[in-house]
Amino acid sequence: MIAHPKASTSQGRSSMSETLNSGEATAPAATKVPVEISNVRPAPGQIALKAPRRAKPPKHIADFDMAGRREFLKELGYQSFRASQLSKHYFERLVTDPAEMTDLPAKDREQMVAQAMPQLLTPVRTLEADGGDTLKVVHRLFDGALIESVIMRYDNRVTMCISSQAGCGMNCPFCATGQQGLTRNLSTAEIVEQVVAGARYLKQMKGLEEAEGGSEDTRPLRVSNIVFMGMGEALANYKATMGAVHRLIDPSPEGLGISARGLTMSTVGLVPGIRKFELEKLPITLALSLHAPDDELRDELIPINQRWKVDETLDAAYDYYRTTGRRVSIEYALIRDINDQGWRADLLGKKLAQRGRGWVHVNPIPLNPTPGSKWTASRKGVEQNFVERLRAHGIPTTIRDTRGSDIDGACGQLAAKED
Ligand code: SF4
Repeated sequence: MIAHPKASTSQGRSSMSETLNSGEATAPAATKVPVEISNVRPAPGQIALKAPRRAKPPKHIADFDMAGRREFLKELGYQSFRASQLSKHYFERLVTDPAEMTDLPAKDREQMVAQAMPQLLTPVRTLEADGGDTLKVVHRLFDGALIESVIMRYDNRVTMCISSQAGCGMNCPFCATGQQGLTRNLSTAEIVEQVVAGARYLKQMKGLEEAEGGSEDTRPLRVSNIVFMGMGEALANYKATMGAVHRLIDPSPEGLGISARGLTMSTVGLVPGIRKFELEKLPITLALSLHAPDDELRDELIPINQRWKVDETLDAAYDYYRTTGRRVSIEYALIRDINDQGWRADLLGKKLAQRGRGWVHVNPIPLNPTPGSKWTASRKGVEQNFVERLRAHGIPTTIRDTRGSDIDGACGQLAAKED
């Protein structure tokens, strides 16, 4: 259920949504008349691995690496060196207003920016939680599809949770996004733009704080961590996701220059996708949403398990660790009386321990109930017992922080609505 946005009560710092809704840099441009996107709700267990064919979003420099950007600019009729100038404005300075791009010829500026950096996302709604430290933004895409991203501020980092698809084809029955079905894949630039928009908001907040004579809040205002845990199964939109990964980690001005170690790729267990991702040999954390250690239950909770079984999926995750050296996270939403029995903790502990030590970490997450769902979170004592039994098998286990659960911004709750 969507809660009302809370006004930030914090003293001495600007609220994130106040910042988002103020100032020119973040003001939404005139919204195009949205095309109605109608989705048929998937039947139980029905999976969509391929996205429906829909009109493609306009091309943007963030869709390409630097060589591709030069080609793109040439095709648009400009000199190719403009690609590095635009890249600096977009990835380094985070500006979109042509008036601020004084190194571009005045007569071409407006048109060049409109063609090479078209506005891809229009913020339509923002919700705050956790005293203003969590901000969920609903964006409208060029064709009217809605997606969400979440910005979470912590003492030592800022994490963004981003979407890779509009909707999701994996149809996990406990997940709000899964119930919507898959509208379409996002383009690379649509994925990247969520982070750039977040970075812009934070930069603007910083500017406001400085203008107010500084703040006692010394926490960082730069995006340092990205989790692909918003709407969609990122590995099912592999090419665009990998393009986005590169734009995020490539040094500026080719990309945003975020450390690959700050990225987490979440998957529900697309084994061929995990195997392909392993070959990229990037130090990115893999988060596997397992939610059950036995095929009988997982077939029901995670329909894709009917294609790739628990052991095959765990083998792929283990091999990912062996290649990249990055410890794998196992996400496990604890659902009352469904998957939270002690014997299931033991079975999970055994399966993980038999593959080796030190390769994995389990994050049980109290389930965020979705409207109308019959499932709810496990009782506290049961949750604790689950954690202790896993630890008894030598598996490091930590209950995951569920930031933003009161604004539907936590895992499995992103199902974008405008109101
Ligand atoms: S839990 Fe993840 S993979 Fe499953 S339907 Fe929801 S968004 Fe898709």
